[in-house]
Amino acid sequence: MAGGGKGSHSKSSKQKSKKKGKTRGNDAARLSAAILHLSSWANKSRHPDQTPPRTDFHTHSSLSDGFLSPAEVVNRAHRNGVKVLALTDHDTMAGVPLALKAAQEHRIRLIPGVEISAKFGSSSQQLRGQEEPVHILAYYSCCGPAHCKDLEATLLQIREGRYIRAQAMVQKLESLNKPIKWDDVLEIAGKGVAPCRPHVAQALVAAGHVNSVEEAFSRYLNNSGPAYVAGAEQPAADVVRLIHWTGGMAVLAHPWTLKHPFPLIERLKDAGLDAIEVYKSDGKDAVSAEWATAYELMKLGGSDFHGRGTLDEIDIGGTSIPALAMLQFLTVAQPIWSSALRLIVQEFAESTSVHDMDHEYWKGDIFVREVEGRFCLVFSAWLTDEEKSVVQNEARTLGLMHEVTLEQGFECISVIKVS
Ligand SMILES: [Zn+2]
Ligand SMILES: [Zn+2]
Repeated sequence: MAGGGKGSHSKSSKQKSKKKGKTRGNDAARLSAAILHLSSWANKSRHPDQTPPRTDFHTHSSLSDGFLSPAEVVNRAHRNGVKVLALTDHDTMAGVPLALKAAQEHRIRLIPGVEISAKFGSSSQQLRGQEEPVHILAYYSCCGPAHCKDLEATLLQIREGRYIRAQAMVQKLESLNKPIKWDDVLEIAGKGVAPCRPHVAQALVAAGHVNSVEEAFSRYLNNSGPAYVAGAEQPAADVVRLIHWTGGMAVLAHPWTLKHPFPLIERLKDAGLDAIEVYKSDGKDAVSAEWATAYELMKLGGSDFHGRGTLDEIDIGGTSIPALAMLQFLTVAQPIWSSALRLIVQEFAESTSVHDMDHEYWKGDIFVREVEGRFCLVFSAWLTDEEKSVVQNEARTLGLMHEVTLEQGFECISVIKVS
């Protein structure tokens, strides 16, 4: 028995190694096919590179709590060799049009994104009454969100809530005998930028109450700190649904910072969450990767670059996402983004005035041009062939004309309405 067992064992391991060798060959072929697909998607080149494009799916600019302007973020990404970049400011997409301009110069594929503040309160008996902040990343097609007025209304509500929240934190600090001036907080945030906790932290440093932003957080502003105030955020599951309604992919940001990840991830999975961040500045987070596998969620990540200029901050592009993970993300994103493009064509068809059509809400590579009574909605130069046919088919269905135009050397699709 023992001999037979041994024999069958050695046979099966032989079979296994033969199978393994074949699998490895398949894996290598899949990987190189993924890299070719990604690099052509990333740079629209006819001769794509054999190396995976460098990416960063999580960055901030000075339009939220980052320190570099959107164009500076893009320039820095270009300097670091990044070919696919998502700008994901907190609760605003105001930086996207500015980043797009710079990205077009460098031929970087910019993914319009936003990191939406939300909250999660578990209904379990044990955790009842405990609410924690949650950040959900949204990623849109190169043309930006559909139903963008709905998205903008929610983001505006959160931003306005930030003013109220920051003021409440200033009051709490006053009662803790650590006064800071409201005007200083606003000045640090910058003109028109909704104040965030790091701005309050910087005001605490400037007033001499603490030596660093880190100390401000650890002593006063962390989620259990004496000066912490919750914001006007919506439940995280509602935010996931809003992202899908507006044609985006929903990704849970930095799950390793959560106090109660399990009930949250379960709830968000039910709401349709697509992925969770797993790849971060110092590598892959093993625990988050296990959660992703357990809940059948895709794995994504990025540097969460803010441009603080500190030695420990990982630079843009410093987090690598495996080519196969990125390809899986894009494969799932493609039909969702295509649906958003269809909705954008429909919105254009239904619009009744120039003002409607050229509205300030568009946060993607898309614009309206009027030539002799013809209103043209020009779609992004970054559309894939598949996306171009989605736009053309939808235009045809709605009885709109469409034509191919040349924009800065790229072939674009224009959908036309005659007034
Ligand atoms: Zn965050
Ligand atoms: Zn972030």
